[in-house]
Amino acid sequence: MLWYQDFDRRMQGSPIRVLQEESMSAHTTFRIGGPARRMAVPGSAEEVRLLLELAEEHRWPTLILGGGSNLLVSDQGIDRLVIATAGLRELCAEGETLTAGAGVRLSRLAAFAAERGLGGLSFAQGIPGTVGGAVFMNAGAYGGEMAQVVERVTAWLPDRGVCTLPREELGFAYRHSRFSEGEGVVLAAELRLEGGRDPAELQSEMEELRERRRQRQPLELPSAGSTFKRPVGHYAGTLIESCGLKGLQVGGAQVSEKHAGFVVNRGGASCADVLALMEEVQRRVYEETGVRLEPEVRAVGPD
Ligand SMILES: Cc1cc2nc3c(=O)[nH]c(=O)nc-3n(C[C@H](O)[C@H](O)[C@H](O)COP(=O)(O)OP(=O)(O)OC[C@H]3O[C@@H](n4cnc5c(N)ncnc54)[C@H](O)[C@@H]3O)c2cc1C
Repeated sequence: MLWYQDFDRRMQGSPIRVLQEESMSAHTTFRIGGPARRMAVPGSAEEVRLLLELAEEHRWPTLILGGGSNLLVSDQGIDRLVIATAGLRELCAEGETLTAGAGVRLSRLAAFAAERGLGGLSFAQGIPGTVGGAVFMNAGAYGGEMAQVVERVTAWLPDRGVCTLPREELGFAYRHSRFSEGEGVVLAAELRLEGGRDPAELQSEMEELRERRRQRQPLELPSAGSTFKRPVGHYAGTLIESCGLKGLQVGGAQVSEKHAGFVVNRGGASCADVLALMEEVQRRVYEETGVRLEPEVRAVGPD
């Protein structure tokens, strides 16, 4: 029996919402991606655990979906069970500690903290996506990153089930965590913030960063943010621009004219267009500068 037939059979009568052949272009900020064989939208961490255990037991291939803001999904789609975390929306504060479900949007998290005079999350305000995706990527901007504020994570690990991982076990490095090595799923994160800050001051700090983004980044077009990681000692965007690649286009994918660090979808770009453009950029930057650009965007499929 094919894995998704087994899945459908076991999901009969389950309250978990399941979508069939759901276009991933509707779930990624790039607006690219073919259908996911099945997409489950669990409403609680308990339902996520159940799905993960079933998937582990029956060897169903999975993909965890946060905000889809760092994903480049194959045009042919993905033959996997996509588990969306949007239903994990718990968000509460106790003193200087915030607890947030994996599906909470970073913008909401930063605003929630600021309203309570808790500092340390202004950097996160303009990063699209969810708490889970941000922990997975150790997302960061303007000198801040998740590693600075995450105290512990409630995760599901294949060999331990639901467990609590302290910061030291999260393997944080630049745009990297233990989860990006393919191990486990973030269910919630506990953040330690700086208390006693003036909410109005935090708001204006965030507004200033928002404005900087608006001026420098091509937010008006679909993208997945920075296409490449920052190479040691350089900025990817500056290198790409110095090689004269701003505006370079393959099909509907283009090196942004506003910020060369972004590949944007000018309309109708396919995953193949983006990958071909990324390869061309990598090749020309390597030939001209000797620097190898490593993708930050995560390509998924075809399976
Ligand atoms: C306009 C724009 C600006 C951006 N600016 C920044 C920036 O300043 N700094 C920055 O770091 N990034 C930036 N990004 C990239 C992106 O927003 C981040 O990488 C973000 O953290 C991804 O989160 P997500 O929830 O969208 O993850 P997704 O794109 O849904 O997933 C990314 C990866 O994380 C995995 N994942 C997601 N949730 C979980 C979970 N709960 N448990 C385990 N694995 C999980 C997915 O399987 C996938 O492999 C930008 C993107 C855009 C579109």
